[in-house]
Amino acid sequence: MIKKPIELVIFDCDGVLVDSERIAVRLQVELGAELGWPLTHDEVVDRFIGRSKESICEQIAQRLGEATAAHWWDQLVRRHREAVDAGLEPVDGLPEALVGITLPVCVASSGSHEKMRHTLGVTGLHERFEGRIFSSSEVPRGKPAPDLFLHAARRMGVDPAACAVVEDSRPGVQAARAAGMRAFGYAGGLTPAERLVGPGTVVFHDMRELPGLIAEG
Ligand SMILES: [Mg+2]
Repeated sequence: MIKKPIELVIFDCDGVLVDSERIAVRLQVELGAELGWPLTHDEVVDRFIGRSKESICEQIAQRLGEATAAHWWDQLVRRHREAVDAGLEPVDGLPEALVGITLPVCVASSGSHEKMRHTLGVTGLHERFEGRIFSSSEVPRGKPAPDLFLHAARRMGVDPAACAVVEDSRPGVQAARAAGMRAFGYAGGLTPAERLVGPGTVVFHDMRELPGLIAEG
């Protein structure tokens, strides 16, 4: 596919803008142990990270039933909120990267709007993205389906072929590729580089590199 110059940079939120995935993994391991599905750190990353509420709850329900899945999710949201209040930081190097990116930007996340208002607010990033924040709650299918990125591009009035997506999860880079967008896979977090590689995907390890990579197209 012939790519157009980049006109819009679409950021995932958790693990790309805010350093929340470490919290999420710790809490999921904790809840699994409490509620009857012991999961390792790597299993949580593989099954849950980058996925929508629906996908996560479906997996838990298949294993432990609907009622436990609902309880698990309620506990996760409550404990996550507390942990974010106790201390959440932007991803290392991200504030510097945002200074270096002059193209229009937006956010497209598997998380809810309420969660993003909170995490982006606590880390001082909300203002930069206000009015350009999209959630998988707005589309039929979450990542790895392309729906959310295509929705964000449409709302921003940009051709998908002119969009770049910054993602830290495997379902996220898969969704970007399925949407016909360039993917920048951040391997400085929880997902190793080999899980992010694929066609049209640039894998990088330090957010400070991002403005230069985007400028190269
Ligand atoms: Mg993510």
